[in-house]
Amino acid sequence: TLTKSQELIQQTSQYGANNYHPLPIVISEAEGVWVRDPEGKRYMDMLSAYSAVNQGHRHPKIIQALKDQADKITLTSRAFHNDQLGPFYEAVAGLTEKEMVLPMNTGAEAVETAIKAARRWAYDVKGVAENSAEIIACIGNFHGRTMSAVSLSSEEEYKRGFGPMLPGIKLIPYGDLAALEAAITPSTAAFLIEPIQGEAGIVIPPQGFLKQAAQVCKENNVIFIADEIQSGLGRSGKPFACDWEDVKPDMYILGKALGGGVFPISCVAANKDILGVFNPGSHGSTFGGNPLACAVSVAALQVLEEEKLSERSLKLGAYFKEKLADINNPLIKEVRGRGLFIGVELTVPARPYCEKLKDEGLLCKETHETVIRFAPPLVISEEDLEWAIEKITRVLSE
Ligand code: PLP
Repeated sequence: TLTKSQELIQQTSQYGANNYHPLPIVISEAEGVWVRDPEGKRYMDMLSAYSAVNQGHRHPKIIQALKDQADKITLTSRAFHNDQLGPFYEAVAGLTEKEMVLPMNTGAEAVETAIKAARRWAYDVKGVAENSAEIIACIGNFHGRTMSAVSLSSEEEYKRGFGPMLPGIKLIPYGDLAALEAAITPSTAAFLIEPIQGEAGIVIPPQGFLKQAAQVCKENNVIFIADEIQSGLGRSGKPFACDWEDVKPDMYILGKALGGGVFPISCVAANKDILGVFNPGSHGSTFGGNPLACAVSVAALQVLEEEKLSERSLKLGAYFKEKLADINNPLIKEVRGRGLFIGVELTVPARPYCEKLKDEGLLCKETHETVIRFAPPLVISEEDLEWAIEKITRVLSE
């Protein structure tokens, strides 16, 4: 007879489209950094739902905000005002130091929004000829799974069978300033970059690149857009990964932890000279800016601030990275990362190690075949981190 977990996995694969390859574990409960399967086995979450759960699973303050708001109003659509949107705008504007915010639901939708804003800005403000605006992005990027996002991608498998792709996109090697300069034309609307590439395997650009790239964009009247959906909100040990080089992008794209792992919400933030290009009818979303998401997000941002989760990520991440670098195994090619956003690159496939770690009670997921990504909730205690280091050291030393 099947266990409850086996039954659920079978049901999932029987009816579900086959667009994911999850580890064979079912999660039915969670709190903080710990999750449980239906059989009651406990695991530590070292993925944090791709950094959407930076505040920890079911943070009491965020759950309270969800419950309180659920008892009042959950959805108005933007046909009417709601009383939670303004406070959300103010919180994000304060954090990003930008004048305007546009809310959506998922990361990919926020990327779409950024591209639409940049294109319209190119025509209405910069004076680019009709239908010729260009966006420059980076090889190895991940901006989501919508048609625009896969059009930006350099991964053949993300695009295969989905053509035709969006035109007006140029790709440059990540961190290559000369390539950026060469790619810019009078038609360039924006340069879109993840300040740390997450899905590519926690790839950090050469020191100084972000700053120089921002300068080149400024000189050429090109919008510098930072996709901080995964790297932002404390994950890298700073509020934003751009802060590592004191760079203020012209536009932030935020998602994931913006909803505290409780409710989907994403947004872009920029000044009026850019986001002011939208007018009624030009963009929107039925659920974008809904009161439930806004109330949850305000609480999620408060938790980041009150619990100093950026500082915590910085301090614990430095310690964790040092311990990972101490592991003696010739199959480890590199340990890299910032804050609690760490990749261990192997010379062999990472999946078997993730499976072994799962058996030991620690959940992580390979990215790009050979990289193990470690990204626990930022609320992780020193004691729990030691527990993880002990398990990882044992499994990776084998
Ligand atoms: N941008 C980056 C940098 C991401 O890491 C992701 C998700 O992993 C996305 C965009 C897409 O976000 P979503 O899956 O919410 O559409």
